[in-house]
Amino acid sequence: MTKRIFRSIVLSSVAVLLASTALIMGVLYEYFTARLEVELATETGYIAQGVLMEGERYLRGLKPGNSRITWVDADGSVLYDNREDASTMENHAGREEIRQALESGTGSSSRYSDTLSQQTIYYAQRLSDNTVLRVSSQKYTVWVLLLQMLQPAMFILLAALVLGLFLASRLSRKIIRPINALDLQHPGEGECYDELAPLLGRIRSQNEVIGRQMEELGRRQKEFIAITENMSEGFLIVDRATNILSYNSAALRLLEAQAPEGASILALNRSWAVRSAVESALAGRRCEQRMEQDGRVEQLIANPVREGRQVTGAVLVILDVTEKEQREALRREFTANVSHELKTPLTSILGTAEILENGMVKSEDVGHFAGNIRKEAQRLIDLVGDIIKLSRLDEGDSGAKWEEVELLALSRSVARQLSDAAQRARVSLRVEGEAAAVPGVRQIVEEMLYNLCDNAVAYNRPGGSVTVEVSKEADGARVTVSDTGTGIPKDQQSRIFERFYRVDKSRSSKGTGLGLSIVKHGALFLGASVEVESEVGRGSTFTLHFKG
Ligand code: ADP
Repeated sequence: MTKRIFRSIVLSSVAVLLASTALIMGVLYEYFTARLEVELATETGYIAQGVLMEGERYLRGLKPGNSRITWVDADGSVLYDNREDASTMENHAGREEIRQALESGTGSSSRYSDTLSQQTIYYAQRLSDNTVLRVSSQKYTVWVLLLQMLQPAMFILLAALVLGLFLASRLSRKIIRPINALDLQHPGEGECYDELAPLLGRIRSQNEVIGRQMEELGRRQKEFIAITENMSEGFLIVDRATNILSYNSAALRLLEAQAPEGASILALNRSWAVRSAVESALAGRRCEQRMEQDGRVEQLIANPVREGRQVTGAVLVILDVTEKEQREALRREFTANVSHELKTPLTSILGTAEILENGMVKSEDVGHFAGNIRKEAQRLIDLVGDIIKLSRLDEGDSGAKWEEVELLALSRSVARQLSDAAQRARVSLRVEGEAAAVPGVRQIVEEMLYNLCDNAVAYNRPGGSVTVEVSKEADGARVTVSDTGTGIPKDQQSRIFERFYRVDKSRSSKGTGLGLSIVKHGALFLGASVEVESEVGRGSTFTLHFKG
């Protein structure tokens, strides 16, 4: 803008300068012409006096000057000329100035000479003897005048131009300075041209609108970040060229990548699953892929983002499905185990029943076979009962009633229930310690204690003992069930809590293999914990920690 103003000022100054030069030249030219005519008339007057007194002698005695002097007779014949031989000159009666002088006493005219570069002005005066004296002088044309004045004029023009440039530059900067000094963030503040007031008003109102929109955008972005950052799922948006536009930290964690900074997602993770999901989405198709890395399983869901009919990018959601897949595998394994566990007693019942049906059993042995059927049926009931308990715990048992559970009394009750079994196994069972009440679900706590004590008796040796000890802890209570039984090998101690896991299948075939699973899930449900310490041949100690 400064340049433009500068150029305009310079151009208009030059135009004004040229126009005024031309005008001045014209005026000057007119002025000099008039002056020349006056001077010529005066000079003619003086010479006329001389001629009247002395005749041609006077004319001859004049010093040769700039003027041409011609003396013409009344009939037009030239009597004298200071430049040419009068006898050879043609009759001058027809010359305009001579004619005028003969008629009215004086006459003047001007004519271009042959060269066209000069103009001659003639002045003629009739003398008292009716002869005519003519004095002429040459005058330069405007162009010649211009040419003559060229050097000084150029000098002046150049000086004016330099001055003009300097002033134009200063002026244009002065005009622009207040505009440059404008604070467009606060357009109302500071001094500026009145003409800019509507524009500044508009900028101010637009600033307000932009400010509001930025605030709204900022709020939405914060919301968006808060939502996406709190998602455990990975979230990525890519443009048509696969460059990442937005992402959350879960996405980087799941893809095991560093902060991308506008990089292509394909550079972030080179797996086939990511490439194929992104490419499908950018081709306009929703795509789901499964990806395995470092023992984790991830599910990728890619959806195209459309603007009108065009796909402008893709949204990628990454889910960690490791646990889900593990749960499903466990469930499948559990179903297979359950089927197997149910089949064993059923096959036994069926076989025994067939033998009885065929009358192949002596009447005194019927009781024994019937007893087998009852035992296997009981095993089935126990198994189904344990499965139901486990599935209830798995589902979170929403109907469970929470209450204060006194662990010492409950342990004694459990010991009473197992006293017959303990006697049969020739194992002494005792409960010690102090009363300790914790919040819990009585039935679940009882099942946990029962299973631990049942195992402690079952995997004991004849003459062995089981001690249940209840004690208060700073933040709850502890129950330990110690036995003097077979013990559990170190490498299997972590596995005994798995469903249907048994250390020794042949010896423990009487159990369901679900007892410790119920203990573990019961503990999880109650927010308690269970630990085991065991040494083969010396016995085991199971410890339950309840929160107060
Ligand atoms: P089960 O119904 O077979 O007892 P559990 O889940 O209760 O099933 O126990 C799993 C396995 O852990 C048992 O089969 C047994 O081998 C071992 N176990 C559990 N408690 C004890 C214990 N107190 N002493 C030795 N081994 C034990």
